[in-house]
Amino acid sequence: MSHSKRKQLVFTVKDLCRVCYTCVRECPVKAIKIINGQAEVINERCIGCGNCFMVCSQGAKCFLKTIKDAKAIIAENEKVIAIVAPSYPAEFTEFPDHRQFVGMIRALGFSHVCEVGFGADMVAREYRKLHDITLTGGSISSDCPAIVFFIEHYQPNLIDKLAPIASPMVAMTRIVRKKYGNDSKVIFIGPCIAKKAESDEVDEVLTFTELRELFKERKLIPEKITPSDFDPPHACKGSIFPVSRGMLQTIELSEDILTEDVIVASGKNNFREVIKEFENDLDSNHHLELLCCEGCIMGPGTTSGGKRYSRRSIVSNHVRKKLENFDFEQWERDIEEFSNLDLTQKHNVLDRRIDVPDEAEINKVLVDLNKLTPQDHLNCTACGYDTCREHAIAIVQGLAEVEMCLPFTIEKLHQSVMDLNESNKKLASTQQALRQSEKLASMGQLSAGIAHELNNPLGVITVYSNILKDEAPEDDPIRKDLELIVEQAERCKKIVGGLLNFARKSQVCLVETNMVDFVKQSLTSIIKPENVELIFEYNTKKPFAYIDVDQMMQALTNLEKNAVEAMPQGGKLTVSLTDNLYNVIISISDTGIGIPKENLEHIFTPFFTTKDMGKGTGLGLPLIYGVVKMHRGKIDVKSNTDPAEGPCGTTFTITIPNDLGQ
Ligand code: ADP
Ligand code: MG
Repeated sequence: MSHSKRKQLVFTVKDLCRVCYTCVRECPVKAIKIINGQAEVINERCIGCGNCFMVCSQGAKCFLKTIKDAKAIIAENEKVIAIVAPSYPAEFTEFPDHRQFVGMIRALGFSHVCEVGFGADMVAREYRKLHDITLTGGSISSDCPAIVFFIEHYQPNLIDKLAPIASPMVAMTRIVRKKYGNDSKVIFIGPCIAKKAESDEVDEVLTFTELRELFKERKLIPEKITPSDFDPPHACKGSIFPVSRGMLQTIELSEDILTEDVIVASGKNNFREVIKEFENDLDSNHHLELLCCEGCIMGPGTTSGGKRYSRRSIVSNHVRKKLENFDFEQWERDIEEFSNLDLTQKHNVLDRRIDVPDEAEINKVLVDLNKLTPQDHLNCTACGYDTCREHAIAIVQGLAEVEMCLPFTIEKLHQSVMDLNESNKKLASTQQALRQSEKLASMGQLSAGIAHELNNPLGVITVYSNILKDEAPEDDPIRKDLELIVEQAERCKKIVGGLLNFARKSQVCLVETNMVDFVKQSLTSIIKPENVELIFEYNTKKPFAYIDVDQMMQALTNLEKNAVEAMPQGGKLTVSLTDNLYNVIISISDTGIGIPKENLEHIFTPFFTTKDMGKGTGLGLPLIYGVVKMHRGKIDVKSNTDPAEGPCGTTFTITIPNDLGQ
């Protein structure tokens, strides 16, 4: 086929493409690449069959329009010949008399209007010759340009099987040039997109839909057009070619030969299947009449939505009527006139096959797609490829993307939803912690104020009790009491200092401490009523942790005090100490009244107390919270107030890391 540089025939309208992959599925040669979620036609791979254009429900595929170029040719040249494909009656049904249609074309400025059907008549004779010669060894007809492109690009091994015969369009171009002069410009008008790239011998190609646009643009009114017939030479049976079972049936061959030897197939799956079979049995006598799309009367250059069988019968009826008054003798003379015309056509290999990537690369992509076992290969075709493996190959070749795999994308979406839920949860708990720290900050301000006020009187108490102690004789029993006052006043100063530090979010003074001894000591410093049983249990591998002893003691004794206060009728206070590789865990459990659910979220709020006036301050738990946080730890609470749900009581658990941190 003679074409210099192939024009891009089909384009994607990016804004309209909804990425449904229907075009990928319909493309017989996988010439559609999905890049960043957008379909793109790869010109070198495209064979112009127009299937993608036909199936796109969104109108996101358009084909090369050459109206402008055709108009320029008409304007600049005197002799411009329109050669019209024989399927025209199926498209232009509004002209029951074909002479009106011819008149319309002439009105556009064409000097001659001829029938490609006569080219088909001539070509059919060439096929008969070929058939007679090649009784052994099959052939593939070359009248569908998309099929010729397919063989040239993807089945170069079959190039010699392509009939070396020009298509009816090219044959007719040569015929009209011979008849009307080599200086004539020739414009083909037909139903096919691929024709636009078929041959340099034709000056321009318009589709039927483009011809309609031209009629509209020129505002031609059919009633005002002078009807006229096609210019000679007139077509005979070649007019039936678009609805016949192929070129060979256009000529007279016995039905036997036809059914045995001629295989007719159209549509993107059928033609490939037939070629595959043919390839496996090259010695057969079969002659393949193949079309890439659903046939010339339904071609991509025709108005969409037409009914195949009514279009068929329109063409057949038209030809039947035409042949009723046909001048066969003139036709014989015409055929004779061009019998020496060269109607051969050379076909060239233009290999566009892409190497299949190696197994390792394919497998890597399959793993990325989560296709690890044969069961994972659903082959659902949602991506536009027949199998998961074909999709993986296309990904390696840069033609497809992983996101095209629907099960994979759904799973990813699922995972994203789960991740989002998880981070929502985290956000909620961070918000909770933030609220808590806001409360603590306000408590910190208050306690800083109180601590500041207490600091001076405490200083006075310390100084004067020390003076009194020093003045008291060695053996005076009051000296012991004064020592206790000094000691407790010192302790108060430390606590006040601690409060001040806490308010300033000061650092803790961490000292490696034996936690068993530490917890034991905390228990000795609380006042335990008779009816409360105290249990200390520990099970640690390494009972050491770095803690601020004073602050942690304050926290622990506060928890123990709360526990005792929750058991006015008596009960059991269990303190247990355990550890793991990273933490020591202290839990303080009581069998008391428990904390009602509605109070649980308030207990760390400063000044929240359920105790009587003068008994509770509501500062214990906020302070404990602050101390634990400063130790990079956490505090949890579990409580039950309903005997129906189990024993009542509360457990506070403090977890603090056993190392020094960063
Ligand atoms: P206070 O002890 O001064 O009331 P806290 O901050 O120590 O302040 O405790 C706040 C509130 O939490 C208490 O008033 C009580 O209602 C509840 N609470 C704390 N610990 C316990 C416990 N072990 N059992 C039942 N309720 C408790
Ligand atoms: Mg308390």
